[in-house]
Amino acid sequence: MSIRLNHLRTRLLEEQLQLQTQIMHFLNNQQNPDYQQLSLKLQQLPLPRWPELLLHWHTPDLKPLSLRLEAVQAALSQMEIGLYGICSDCESRIDAQRLEQDPAEQRCFRCTNHKTQITS
Ligand SMILES: [Zn+2]
Repeated sequence: MSIRLNHLRTRLLEEQLQLQTQIMHFLNNQQNPDYQQLSLKLQQLPLPRWPELLLHWHTPDLKPLSLRLEAVQAALSQMEIGLYGICSDCESRIDAQRLEQDPAEQRCFRCTNHKTQITS
């Protein structure tokens, strides 16, 4: 694994841990018994399965964190199978500078701009 890739991997792992802490912190500070139950369930699950459960439970407050966790984990597993840094739409290489800005980036510059134009 190259030094640059290793460095991005470390950043992703750190972010994954931060997101895990933030989600737990949020859940443990809620009075809602549903959230307390969710917190218990999460503690019994391996981290890669968290986004699935979190998104399934329809927790709007946690949606941004859950989606981010999902993206971070997707990037990490792409690294493991050697498919990291490839655009999920057009399969061209994502610019190194772009990945430096956001190591969990899934799309190249062109496809992201294209998408923005369609949805706006
Ligand atoms: Zn693309």
